[in-house]
Amino acid sequence: MTETIERDSMQYDVVVVGAGPAGLSTAIRLKQLAQQAGRETSVCVVEKGSEVGAHILSGAVIDPAVLSELLPEWKTQGAPLTRSVTADQVLFLTQNKAYKLPVTPNFNNHGNYIISLGALCRWLAEQAESLGVEIYPGFAAAEVLYHPDGSVKGIATGNMGVGKDGETTEMFQPGMELWAQQTVFAEGCRGSLSQQVIQKYALERDSQPQTYGIGIKEIWEVPAGQCQ
Ligand SMILES: Cc1cc2nc3c(=O)[nH]c(=O)nc-3n(C[C@H](O)[C@H](O)[C@H](O)COP(=O)(O)OP(=O)(O)OC[C@H]3O[C@@H](n4cnc5c(N)ncnc54)[C@H](O)[C@@H]3O)c2cc1C
Repeated sequence: MTETIERDSMQYDVVVVGAGPAGLSTAIRLKQLAQQAGRETSVCVVEKGSEVGAHILSGAVIDPAVLSELLPEWKTQGAPLTRSVTADQVLFLTQNKAYKLPVTPNFNNHGNYIISLGALCRWLAEQAESLGVEIYPGFAAAEVLYHPDGSVKGIATGNMGVGKDGETTEMFQPGMELWAQQTVFAEGCRGSLSQQVIQKYALERDSQPQTYGIGIKEIWEVPAGQCQ
């Protein structure tokens, strides 16, 4: 007979899965809209990384246009966008030489910034928390919960303290159920729960199939004085 594990539950208006740029921006915008409407809206974000930004691998060149819409005062609020792009070059590298290639319009980064996306997420998390968003790093959403009518009721975080053999250890702690009026899946590319709900509700039915590509980035440490 399968043992049923009792889990505690908490109720929010909105639960967001994933504290990447998408999840945090959603949480911030919801709180801004609630403030404008004079409404109390509880928003919670769960993030499987040990801290916000821990799973955000990308260094990035970003266009700040959307950030300016979301948080127009980002410059004075200390957003970690400090290095603007001053020049673009596309080079074909051989062992000893670099050949300049034309810079096509999609490689023109004038007005963009070179940033750490992890640092931006940590800063976005601070902005979200200052608006009253509750953020729980170290908690992976492991299961989608459904109402009897089939609509999404929320998520459950994973159990902790389960051994490699799947048996519970003395450290065992059951996951929590987070119930919400709306659940936002912002897990990034190919999120495990997102794929489940996409399949369950046939969300890809009348849309273009998602496409994926692999890009490779190399991080160079440049000696001081050799970069601006
Ligand atoms: C190598 C690389 C280079 C890139 N370079 C650029 C660039 O130069 N400029 C640019 O604009 N974009 C760039 N991108 C794209 C950019 O990183 C993504 O568009 C952006 O990160 C997407 O944001 P997101 O919030 O949707 O997802 P993500 O950034 O993937 O964030 C998802 C978050 O959700 C968490 N999560 C996932 N599943 C769960 C779960 N079940 N429970 C709890 N938490 C969960 C993850 O830990 C993560 O923190 C690059 C991407 C890569 C991989």
